[in-house]
Amino acid sequence: MKHLAFVLVLIFAVLAGTYFLLFAPEKYQQPDLYDKIMHSGVIKVGINIDSKPYGFIDKNGEISGYDADLARYIAHYIVKSPNAVKFVPVTPANRMLKASTGEVDIVIATMTITPQRQEILDFSIPYDTAGQALLVRNGSRITSINDLAGQNVGVIFGTTAERNMQNLVPSANVLGFKTYHEAYEALKNGAINAITSDDTILSGFALEDKSVKLLPKRYSREPYGIGFKKGRCSAKLKQNIDFAITDLRQKNVITRLRHKWGLG
Ligand code: GLU
Repeated sequence: MKHLAFVLVLIFAVLAGTYFLLFAPEKYQQPDLYDKIMHSGVIKVGINIDSKPYGFIDKNGEISGYDADLARYIAHYIVKSPNAVKFVPVTPANRMLKASTGEVDIVIATMTITPQRQEILDFSIPYDTAGQALLVRNGSRITSINDLAGQNVGVIFGTTAERNMQNLVPSANVLGFKTYHEAYEALKNGAINAITSDDTILSGFALEDKSVKLLPKRYSREPYGIGFKKGRCSAKLKQNIDFAITDLRQKNVITRLRHKWGLG
């Protein structure tokens, strides 16, 4: 008898939960992200400010780079004004939280689409692709990832490279850094012997400083996507962002952005 009562309560709970999810009054549902952006006229974009040429602070103190330009294009498509962007600096370690709590509407920050991240956020179609690479000091004896066994290697907290290193070279001594610049300083002063992350970002350091170099091999494929809160609340936003990316690609704007920022 007790057992039957328990089963009945369970069935009731499941039915009530399903009913609530489907027909709950609007005030209990997540506000639609697209409508919210349209209503405020502003799109809050999480962006890296430490990842030249994607997101960085330029000579005039402005947030600049490929991701910043893309954000302005997206704002132009959605809010019909490229100036409707409010940039919020994020790091690889905190950007997912900031998007899922609504502190930012979208994240455009060299963020790779991965199955693990898709459990937490929804993503646009890819707008660019990178690959995991190694940045070393010129004259270093490290020529490939296999040479990292027993070596101090820098990663940026929260990146795919941090995760990949556990499988690629379990015997490397992996040290985490909050920013690319902190990792770069550690490489220069000898505290680490390599940095591993996306080629697109590491190449910026090699272009500006001839005492470091990017090794040619790539160890992953990193499709970059725009991330936003997961669920029905972002369906309309995703549709609009995917349309914008497709259109920008067809009009060769994405190719022009790559050239503008020295990405070939
Ligand atoms: N694309 C890589 C990632 O999403 C690393 C680049 C970065 O986010 O800084 O983890």
